[in-house]
Amino acid sequence: MKADEVKKVVIVGAGTMGAGIAGAFARAGCEVRLVDKNAELLKRGMKMLCMAQDVLVKEKRLSKRRATAALKRVSLVSDMAEACADAQFLLETVTEDLRVKHAVLAEADRLCPKRAVFATNTSGLSITKIAAATKRPSRVAGMHFVNPPHVVPLVEVIKGERTSPATARLFMGLARRLGKRPILVRRDVPGFVLNRLQFAVMREALHILAEGIASVEDIDTAMSAGPGLRYAFMGPLRTADLGGLDVFHNISQYLFPALNSKRSGSPVLAKLVKQGKLGAKSGAGFYKYPPAELKRILARRDRVLLKFLDAIEREGS
Ligand code: NAD
Repeated sequence: MKADEVKKVVIVGAGTMGAGIAGAFARAGCEVRLVDKNAELLKRGMKMLCMAQDVLVKEKRLSKRRATAALKRVSLVSDMAEACADAQFLLETVTEDLRVKHAVLAEADRLCPKRAVFATNTSGLSITKIAAATKRPSRVAGMHFVNPPHVVPLVEVIKGERTSPATARLFMGLARRLGKRPILVRRDVPGFVLNRLQFAVMREALHILAEGIASVEDIDTAMSAGPGLRYAFMGPLRTADLGGLDVFHNISQYLFPALNSKRSGSPVLAKLVKQGKLGAKSGAGFYKYPPAELKRILARRDRVLLKFLDAIEREGS
């Protein structure tokens, strides 16, 4: 199957990611069935999808006509058998728990046509283990979208131990068809590439905070007004090339041993979570989020990211 032959798509899980991913497939012309075990969340997912499209229309990334046409291609379904009957491609984006993902894919394996291919949007669980719930592991791969999925172009396509090259190629093509920028993760390693990079930075940021070396605000500024700008359009390796590899080599020799290398989780995060400070969704995390302000912060995030992407696309990377 070629990427442009995929027309019948099932997205299982209508949460933060599922709704946005469903929208991306619908805008690419696919007929999408969005499934969730929770009817309320399914409806909320549709609202999130509409809100995401409104942002794209407002920022002139999508015409009103195309937005309306895309919405018509999405149907909300609570019955897996109905959703899967003629599926060509199914993506699960349910709770990050191996048992839950196993149950969903085992059911999909029973209900979908034999030729259908399956993707998992796991953030870092083993693709090989997830695929083992099915009798078609060669037709299963990771397809990891990034939040917010209606804005961020990266998609990681991850090969499990038994994923066929054809499945990986198909998923790369599908991601491109959605207007995304896919990368191929050749081996099924925890965290793939994105989260390994993201959490390497996170571990050091938490360590700097715990050690009292800088404040929350200053740590964020050190990234967003500094290397974050360069990383956003050329990544860490070209950044090093431009800085001089001899310089980076010298620094790495004295700095690597000084970086945090603890294998356990962060006490700073553990404390905040224990206090119920889960970030934006609970009203507070490292910062406070009164509801009206949160709306403004999210709108600004999408607006700025889209403008930034425009600039990068215009200039090339
Ligand atoms: P979420 O909790 O917002 O949504 C999960 C949805 O799955 C819920 O609506 C829930 O009702 C539904 N669900 C659970 N079990 C189900 C079942 N058996 N059948 C049907 N629906 C079921 O989670 P999320 O943040 O959207 O994350 C989903 C997946 O995407 C996870 O694997 C996560 O690691 C990954 N992911 C999340 C992000 C992020 O920033 N939130 C980014 C990239 C990848």
